[in-house]
Amino acid sequence: MTHEVTLIPGDGTGPELIEATRRVLEATGVEFEWDEHPAGEDVYEAEGDPFPERTLESIRRTKVGIKGPTTTPVGSGFRSINVQLRKELDLYACLRPCKLYPGVRSHFDQVDIVIVRENTEDLYAGIEFERGSEDNAKLREFLAGMDVEVREDAGISIKPISEFGSDRIVEAAFDYAEKHGRKKVTAAHKANIMKFSDGLFLETARKVAERHPEIEFEDRIIDNLCNQLVSRPEEYDVIVLPNLYGDIVSDLGAGMIGGLGLAPGANIGTQAAMFEATHGSAPKYKGQNKVNPTALMLSGVLMLRHLGEADAADRMEAAIAAVIAEGDKVTYDLKPDRDDPTAVGTSEFADAVIDQMKETK
Ligand code: NAD
Repeated sequence: MTHEVTLIPGDGTGPELIEATRRVLEATGVEFEWDEHPAGEDVYEAEGDPFPERTLESIRRTKVGIKGPTTTPVGSGFRSINVQLRKELDLYACLRPCKLYPGVRSHFDQVDIVIVRENTEDLYAGIEFERGSEDNAKLREFLAGMDVEVREDAGISIKPISEFGSDRIVEAAFDYAEKHGRKKVTAAHKANIMKFSDGLFLETARKVAERHPEIEFEDRIIDNLCNQLVSRPEEYDVIVLPNLYGDIVSDLGAGMIGGLGLAPGANIGTQAAMFEATHGSAPKYKGQNKVNPTALMLSGVLMLRHLGEADAADRMEAAIAAVIAEGDKVTYDLKPDRDDPTAVGTSEFADAVIDQMKETK
């Protein structure tokens, strides 16, 4: 079966990373029909729109996409394409597997956790009231009517967490656990302090857990979870979190497994799934054939599993792991010394993974 997939090269180092990943995905033997469309800074400069309608239409049609990173200019310019994508396609679940592969330098011996982050609610919902604004004054006045005092010089952000949003993200975590042979789901929260937002998240998580008695369920207060993750990471399996904690713990996880160059991701929703690395466009390395494509390749592995190509996913992951474990044909960031002249480029790393897959066929 041929899979039609929307391919978004992105900008900065994105096109090099996507090309390396596309070649490895094709070398698995799975057949793809790539529907390539632009997004990011380059198409913004060329067409005045960083996220053309044709790109969005393609994803709506194929329902699966793989994307290179895209630059979001600070200050002026345009809104983050990733935020737009999440909103347009209701990509409510962000999946971040954090697995430590042999050969990667890390302070840890064993890490194999999957972070499931809610993508649409919480303090990232964008409900903000600027200090000194008219709306801020109205809100403070409304609160004062309920005997809640907020300082006049305060900026205010609102944290909505709904039963609907909590139910579907926790369900996504259990669904992932069931489909991938995972044993336990941990829900992280600060329900002891934020009783009506995190409290609702926890209460809903407990109800969802009752629907999945075959998977163990536990909860952790977020600060305790961070402490335990760095002291006993082997005790954790799938972790589900509201948006803000999920964002932070995802980066913690990326650090535990050796850095951004190794951390894959997927944004999954009701209408589509988009696979992409956790890292950004690393623009200073653009066009240098230098950066590590592992994170995007492992995102490709997640895409293969999503497409039901589990065997190809296993072979591709094993080949990436073998090249990293050998440590010879790896990019600069995986060498003990970052200036090691034996480090290979993005494209040669892909060649090594393809050779490895051929050897083990
Ligand atoms: P970045 O992740 O692009 O790079 C930070 C540093 O991490 C790089 O300088 C490099 O040293 C290292 N790094 C990143 N990816 C690597 C890789 N594959 N191999 C080896 N080393 C790697 O973060 P940034 O500099 O903060 O962001 C650059 C741009 O990317 C910004 O415009 C930001 O908004 C955007 N961004 C996009 C996405 C996305 O498209 N999903 C995600 C995060 C940031």
